[in-house]
Amino acid sequence: MTSETRLGARLAAVDERIADAVRQAGRRQEEVTRIVVTKGHPVALIRELAALGVRHVGESRHQEAEPKTAELADLGLTWHFVGQLQSNKARAVRRYVDWVHSVDRTALLRPFSDGDGDGPPLDCFIQVDLAGTSGRGGADPSALEPLAEALLATSGLRLRGVMGVPPIDEEPRSAFARLRAAGETVRRLEPAATAMSAGMSGDFVDAIMEGATHLRIGTAITGMRTAHG
Ligand SMILES: *Cc1c(COP(=O)(O)O)cnc(C)c1O
Repeated sequence: MTSETRLGARLAAVDERIADAVRQAGRRQEEVTRIVVTKGHPVALIRELAALGVRHVGESRHQEAEPKTAELADLGLTWHFVGQLQSNKARAVRRYVDWVHSVDRTALLRPFSDGDGDGPPLDCFIQVDLAGTSGRGGADPSALEPLAEALLATSGLRLRGVMGVPPIDEEPRSAFARLRAAGETVRRLEPAATAMSAGMSGDFVDAIMEGATHLRIGTAITGMRTAHG
């Protein structure tokens, strides 16, 4: 098989597992968006994914994402930034992404805002720390409401929901249940924030069971990362 055929086979296999899980959860396919996380992979792979019908792509490092999004501008993809961010990079990231999944502190809000509010809104997830250690980023659950209020008061940002990564030492399903509860907290402040970004290659079935709407799937589709770029 060519590499493109293998990529297509892995994509189809993941999509079939997603469809099965959505049915099992009694949910509808339209509720779930599959984002392919392409960090560490070259633009050629993203072109192959686009040819296979992929529209939503995720990146996690600004230095890598900026040139890739520029080079692939002709594809009209929807770009998701899923990685940790320094606040001095946020303004630059805003220029090339449509969604940010990792808003976890108020210091990011001003650089992400569009100042006078004339551009398209940036769709945001608040990342919640599910480990209680801040190791993989995310806001402490106790900081969730003030952060959501500050985000809602910032021009040019649209709060869509919560994002989380389960701790390594916990069953993903119980961590996703806590994320779902965090989402309910946010929805009391913004009823339209109904999205939940959860589920990676190893745990997307559990995430779907707990109500995930945006899956961030990398290696199960792309194969192992081979290079930076
Ligand atoms: C890399 C990454 C993913 C994808 O992880 P896989 O295990 O390769 O599916 C998802 N979310 C975030 C935040 C990531 O950094």
